[in-house]
Amino acid sequence: ETKCEVITVGTELLLGQIVDTNSSWLSEVLANSGINVYYKQTVGDNFDRLFSVFERAQKRSNIIFVTGGLGPTDDDLTREVAAQLFDTQLEIHQDTMNKIEGYFISRNKMMTENNRKQALGFQGGLVFDNEVGMAPALHYEHDGTWWFFLPGVPREMKWLVTEQILPFFKEKGILTKQLYSKVLSFQGIGESTLETELQDLIRNQTNPTIAPLAGNSYVTLRLTAKAATKEESETLIEPVEQQIMDRVGTYFTGYGHVPLEIQLLRLCQEKEITLCSCESVTGGLFASTIVQHEGASLALKGSIVSYTNEIKENVVGVPSSILDEFGAVSEPCARTMAEQTREQFNTTIGISFTGIAGAEPVDGQEPGTVFIGISSKEETVVHKVVLSGGRNDIRERAVQEGLKYLLN
Ligand code: ATP
Ligand code: MG
Repeated sequence: ETKCEVITVGTELLLGQIVDTNSSWLSEVLANSGINVYYKQTVGDNFDRLFSVFERAQKRSNIIFVTGGLGPTDDDLTREVAAQLFDTQLEIHQDTMNKIEGYFISRNKMMTENNRKQALGFQGGLVFDNEVGMAPALHYEHDGTWWFFLPGVPREMKWLVTEQILPFFKEKGILTKQLYSKVLSFQGIGESTLETELQDLIRNQTNPTIAPLAGNSYVTLRLTAKAATKEESETLIEPVEQQIMDRVGTYFTGYGHVPLEIQLLRLCQEKEITLCSCESVTGGLFASTIVQHEGASLALKGSIVSYTNEIKENVVGVPSSILDEFGAVSEPCARTMAEQTREQFNTTIGISFTGIAGAEPVDGQEPGTVFIGISSKEETVVHKVVLSGGRNDIRERAVQEGLKYLLN
């Protein structure tokens, strides 16, 4: 039986200056690979305490991961402590040394004695090359226990585990299972309705598991199977997927999740629709959400961020009579913003956002109120929504609401 243990090293972890995300990431990845993590320890950069933590792990576990303390500085002690426990020597790993030297030469920098430390491995151990950073991962087998030493930097640690150590496990026949998932997307059905429809399946299904996730306007189900091969995972997932489709298949929109703005971009391209936005409360977030994606310019012509009444009046062309009589957060203001901008920009559709993201009521409207105007040549429709959350939640939700209206 594998008894795995994770040790994270670093005084900053104990001081609470950085959050230990390495061990939770590792635990999850290992659990999903069928390796049980029984213990976790966190220890500072101190020789004696590191030694006793390593000693204890050696006694009770047979696969041990250590992250951190492999760097060039004096407080990085992991190697030295482990070498003492293993009763082995540290020796220069020539490939790593060449790599470090090459790095300094190519940057015209002086290499210090400290930097050589990063090229040290255990005599009789293995070195896994790190393609995304300097310090490699080290492996040593001591009294039947497998030790793995990883850099503390999360990105490098993750790369080494996924690209080097898990394949190593697989090769050694330790890794028996892997997780495979498939995501189903639904629209037009709420999360709670979907869950109710599938309640018995969600409760009783263990392989694959079924996990619903609600977005602003869609729900996804992630089916995750633990299996030895992809083919096996497919045979596990298929019958469950079939049962789901029998019940809620009419709301199914596809595999994976496609964000609303991408759906909108596709629709615009297909129907040759052009867009513009006139944004107050969202401050350009609608335009920005669209512009994140390739091909945005085919649909979005531009946007006005008309945050103050002065700009609504002078740049957009909202009559002062509307602002005086109804206020900026109002149906007539949203309507005029959408219409005027669509005409100025000469687009198929104009969308406007005016509302209250702050905590105080404005123009007699409660916080979270947003008017969304959608104007086309034929008509202008204004939707009023009342959204909850902080300032940025309201802004983001307003954009999502706007996207939904445009898609319907
Ligand atoms: P370096 O060569 O950068 O010194 P190292 O192997 O010595 O690498 P540390 O010095 O312990 O690793 O950590 C480097 C950085 O990685 C830390 O400053 C921290 O930002 C991050 N880090 C270390 N351990 C963890 C952890 N357990 N969880 C999340 N981040 C971590
Ligand atoms: Mg360090």
